[in-house]
Amino acid sequence: MDLKLDALLLRAADYGENDRMVTLLSADRGKISAAMKGVRKAGAKLRFASQPFCFAEYVFAEKGGRYTVTQASLHEGFYDLRTQVEAYYAASCVTEVCDLFSMENMAAGPLLVCAVGALEEMERCPEKPNPVLVKFMAEAVMLAGYPLSAGDCPVCGKKLAGRRYFDLATGAFNCSDCAVGVPASESTYYAIREALSAIDTRPQPQKDVAADDGGRATGTGNEADSGAGKADGYLRALRLLRAYISYHTEAPLPALTQYISL
Ligand SMILES: [Zn+2]
Repeated sequence: MDLKLDALLLRAADYGENDRMVTLLSADRGKISAAMKGVRKAGAKLRFASQPFCFAEYVFAEKGGRYTVTQASLHEGFYDLRTQVEAYYAASCVTEVCDLFSMENMAAGPLLVCAVGALEEMERCPEKPNPVLVKFMAEAVMLAGYPLSAGDCPVCGKKLAGRRYFDLATGAFNCSDCAVGVPASESTYYAIREALSAIDTRPQPQKDVAADDGGRATGTGNEADSGAGKADGYLRALRLLRAYISYHTEAPLPALTQYISL
């Protein structure tokens, strides 16, 4: 029987003469791999659905546990994200993280919504370093069950000022007296805090984060900061999130590494 799913293309690999194997993220079935026959031929009807960041309704035929895409109707092609190198890498960071944090046959609705939303925002806001990417990464790590907070020092309870530390084990910033984890600048802290404030109030899977109102207060307290300082903070926040994800998953995150070094 045919299976029909709204899905986002995470990656595609060429095989055979004209075919592609695609890996997609769907809400109900999590990650799903499928063959797309003949899509590398010029003028192939389903070529669009094998392109990076394609968000479409895919129809699959199943045989012996293997899927083949037989039809697709486009929701969003995110064409603009494919034509400019910084936007391309920013969008690739989104699909890379989705790939890392999803599995076959798992419910992945919130991650899919978050990813498609981030790609839409990035199309409108292609600046680099991109605050939309910081927000997406922060939300994705929390959806994956890794807490993230930027409130007062969770060790001694003091308000954070000056140099901070970020505990890679717990995902929380702490003060320079407690100094647990890796050093983190004020701009890093405010970039993460801004991302946490921007994430909507959708319930998160971990209790730790919900209990920590400090990091979810509105406003960054950083309005006086310059544009350049903020941009630097976004880049540092992405480095910190890369370290945090790698600490827990050992994933090399090549797209994010590339984006940071562009
Ligand atoms: Zn402290």
